Amino acid sequence: MTRREFLQFLALATVSLPLSACIRPKKILVIGAGLAGLAAAKNLRELGHRVTVLEGRDRIGGRIWTSRKWHDLPLDLGASWIHGTQGNELTRIADHLRAKRIATSYDSATLLRSNGKELDSNDQGLLKRLQQKLESAIEMAQSQETDRSLRAVARTVSKSLDSDSKKMVEFLLNSQFEQEYGGRAEDLSAHWFDHSKEFGGEDVLFAEGFEVIVKHLAKGLDVRLGQVVQKVHSNGERVLVTTSKGHFDADQVLVTLPLGVLQSGKVNFDPGLPQAKANAIQRLKMGTLNKCYLRFPQAFWPADVDWIQILPENPGHWVEWVSFKQAAKKPVLLGFNAAQRGLDIEAFSDRAIVDDAMETLRRAYGSTIPNPTDWQITRWASDPFSLGSYSFNALGSTPKDREALAAPIDERIFFAGEATSTDYFGTAHGAVLSGYAAADQMQGE
Ligand SMILES: Cc1cc2nc3c(=O)[nH]c(=O)nc-3n(C[C@H](O)[C@H](O)[C@H](O)COP(=O)(O)OP(=O)(O)OC[C@H]3O[C@@H](n4cnc5c(N)ncnc54)[C@H](O)[C@@H]3O)c2cc1C
Repeated sequence: MTRREFLQFLALATVSLPLSACIRPKKILVIGAGLAGLAAAKNLRELGHRVTVLEGRDRIGGRIWTSRKWHDLPLDLGASWIHGTQGNELTRIADHLRAKRIATSYDSATLLRSNGKELDSNDQGLLKRLQQKLESAIEMAQSQETDRSLRAVARTVSKSLDSDSKKMVEFLLNSQFEQEYGGRAEDLSAHWFDHSKEFGGEDVLFAEGFEVIVKHLAKGLDVRLGQVVQKVHSNGERVLVTTSKGHFDADQVLVTLPLGVLQSGKVNFDPGLPQAKANAIQRLKMGTLNKCYLRFPQAFWPADVDWIQILPENPGHWVEWVSFKQAAKKPVLLGFNAAQRGLDIEAFSDRAIVDDAMETLRRAYGSTIPNPTDWQITRWASDPFSLGSYSFNALGSTPKDREALAAPIDERIFFAGEATSTDYFGTAHGAVLSGYAAADQMQGE
């Protein structure tokens, strides 16, 4: 049979047979039941493969983790938002599930000095000018051959400024870059930190929590919880995966371990990873973003804002807040700490974190505001199954590193996860799309 005849035969065969009947079913292991692993596993299973998902935790979802501690308000401790709803695969799934979503908007925001005074028009003008200066300096840095950190670029803007303006530049660095990418300004590559794509449209939260997506993807899958993968061994024909509980073998393996876990060396690859992949793992970095939800007896902040930004006394401390008063009709504030401050507070007790947050809120809203009645706090960098919140393009890395991270080894070991996405790293949709892409590769498409 010629190649042409074969393709014609295949085309006829696919008319009369379901897709799953046309492929040789393979035995596939997927390491990690986060969005990337589940999205890939779902597609591969639908194609007729025998898929087993090995997950180290006692729950699925990974960095999607909806807390039901407060029965009247499901809260996301990992990802909360679909960033950019238009053309976003997460929107397609959420529409299919008819999942209720709530929009939050940066247009509905207030910017305060640490003493609670709103920035007057002079201050706002100054901030705008500083922002333009910072943007021009970054643009200039991106046109130069040698890469620098965002901190180094910001220094060129700050050097001749008075102390108030310096504080504003520090605020811009933290609120616009460190909070978004999770990396310290010292570590963010000026060339590549924003080398990604975005979907248009608004940002939305899931009224019932992001886990609706995870549950949908996981439906019908063979997921084994508590299987901490320790070793991935390939002899060129088969792949053997060793976990804390036993051994599994397969034709192909998909690795969706977070970058932090790959960097830790806790999972042993035999033979070792190709040099380009090992270099990529070392050059890209994991950022930190931590959340602290505070529940109050009643709201003491304006009810008509989604975002509260505070120019902090200390750089990076409790700069960004989200109010759930407007979005969910609950007296709940979510405070973020990112990058270095996000890391530092992981060593604090919950009580100390809440006291620290309340100091900032009391300075801004007065000493008489009530104490929170409860709180929920994350520590993603200390979590052994993520070792960070999401990856960023660090000084010394390039987008080629993400391609190297995503590249399969010998058509046996494949890679997915947010860190493998050149275009959408650090996001939930990036994780899902990377899972689909890996499933296609494993299918040989
Ligand atoms: C605080 C925070 C806020 C965020 N906010 C947003 C947001 O609003 N919008 C957005 O789009 N994105 C957001 N993100 C990013 C988004 O959550 C992630 O990009 C995405 O969930 C990553 O999915 P993944 O499948 O690549 O990785 P993961 O979800 O981490 O999945 C990897 C899986 O591997 C498992 N694993 C690890 N080690 C082992 C082992 N040795 N053996 C077996 N299993 C193992 C893990 O337990 C995990 O389940 C946020 C992340 C965090 C942490």
